[in-house]
Amino acid sequence: MPLPGDDWVVCPRCRTALEHTVRGGVPRPTCPGCGFVFFANPGVGAACVIRDGGGRVLLVQRGPGQFGAGRWCFPCGFVEWGEDVRAAAAREAREEAGVEVVLGEVVQVASNFHEPGKPTIGVWFAATMVDLAAAPIAGDDAVAVAWFDPAAPPPLAFPTDAALLARLSAGR
Ligand SMILES: [Zn+2]
Repeated sequence: MPLPGDDWVVCPRCRTALEHTVRGGVPRPTCPGCGFVFFANPGVGAACVIRDGGGRVLLVQRGPGQFGAGRWCFPCGFVEWGEDVRAAAAREAREEAGVEVVLGEVVQVASNFHEPGKPTIGVWFAATMVDLAAAPIAGDDAVAVAWFDPAAPPPLAFPTDAALLARLSAGR
């Protein structure tokens, strides 16, 4: 599979012609002029697993233009550069589901390959709504938000969400 940077011709810093030097078994775009080396790394995503007193989970429906548009997922998104992963998870709950949450333990860590050219690593946190009576409101990238029985989820955008829901519905 092509790696990001395979087709780069000149250094983005100094415009010297790039070489592709093997480091750690992988060819990396490397600049003989300024020493720049590009390492293709997966992105990091953070998700919130918010449950109500009855064990239902809060899912959001993904909006147009996104991967899996029209399908559902846990509130989630990319961790920004310099942002704490837990802060990112709480931010996504606020932005996509309109709820303030307190984060608990990590319930899943997994690699995501649903977009082969854009691999990511996801961290799913258990989360509890600060106000248990609050009504979630879809926002940002989400077009709807609703509670679901983990054993009967709607069509899902991500295989890793499906795996986690299967575990939750089995009580594990
Ligand atoms: Zn350079």
